[in-house]
Amino acid sequence: MTGLADPTRLRDTTLALVEIPSPTGDTAEVAHAYAALLAEVGMEVEVLTEPFPKTPIVIGTLKGDRPGPRFVFSGHLDTVPIDHAPPYIDGDRIYGRGSTDMKGPCACAAEAVRVISSTGQSFSGEIVIVAIGLHEAPGGRGEDLTWLLHERGFTADMAVVCELSAHDVAVAHMGQATVEITVSRPGDATHELRTPAGTPNPIHGAARVVDAVKARNEELSATTYPWVGPETYFIGEIHGGDFYNRFPNSCRIVGTRRWAPGNTIEAVRAEYDALLAKVAEETGLEITLDLKLVRGAYSIDENAPLLKALQEAYKDVTGDDLKPVGIKTVADGAMFSAAGIPTVYHGPFGEGAHGDVEYITVGELVRATEVYLSMIGKLL
Ligand SMILES: [Zn+2]
Repeated sequence: MTGLADPTRLRDTTLALVEIPSPTGDTAEVAHAYAALLAEVGMEVEVLTEPFPKTPIVIGTLKGDRPGPRFVFSGHLDTVPIDHAPPYIDGDRIYGRGSTDMKGPCACAAEAVRVISSTGQSFSGEIVIVAIGLHEAPGGRGEDLTWLLHERGFTADMAVVCELSAHDVAVAHMGQATVEITVSRPGDATHELRTPAGTPNPIHGAARVVDAVKARNEELSATTYPWVGPETYFIGEIHGGDFYNRFPNSCRIVGTRRWAPGNTIEAVRAEYDALLAKVAEETGLEITLDLKLVRGAYSIDENAPLLKALQEAYKDVTGDDLKPVGIKTVADGAMFSAAGIPTVYHGPFGEGAHGDVEYITVGELVRATEVYLSMIGKLL
């Protein structure tokens, strides 16, 4: 099934989606546009406006002519809320926020379905496209996909998350949580000289936390996990005090914690709680932890049939091998696999996700669409 993806259509569809602004949490307009596109390519479409009315979930289904597995393409229609020049086309490139991450990939999934439905290709089971609007942290943490998989009871036999892994394939990624630690003492900030002797200083307490985190991070660096390397504690911000001779009453530390497949957010939380309890006890300060899951860790068996089908499809289309790699980025494959659905990542390669200048090429959109078509030919 190569040579059937339509470059012009892929280009125009991607541009049309990119032209609709859709920062995380505000994706209703692009969701309705994408739903209309899925209906146009022959899918039965549902737009779930509850329980996330500002980020409706779009689900398109194309049924095969005989029973078989349920195959899902997963994408997100939200973009990071970072300004970008207005969308435009320059030669083979489509520029604009979301072109790579990931409206171009969503256009590829729709184009694959269009090719199959318009050519009347026989296949078993059903092809489903799911598009969400609460993907990009910190505005979204996949609350909508979590709801879909765990409350609504959405299920499938296999899934392709249509981003990352363009010219190699992630077989594992870390889990990640955001970390916010507040070190505080009772009462208001006071003049340095009017504060009773022995009052614990939250900035000193925060320094102890920073040291403890650094020491633990060094311990973790001794263990290298397959594909993903060592787990990490990371601090990106520290804020405390507001005047040179005022005794502060709080200090805030912000960062990340990343963990390997097999570890869990629960274990990570327990480890953090123990580390902070020790500093709290030693300093007499109150220390609270706000640890929020971004995504769990992901891994797939290197011999999983879905992964093999992807690698064969890539080889059929490009002539090259799709090598397994580990990545640090977290994404939605973790949520599908946690729900028991075998999942791979694969999408078109683009530049500038979350950057100042974001673009994707028509050539890559065509290539990814053809890989999807080849995969479906092998699996359904
Ligand atoms: Zn993305």
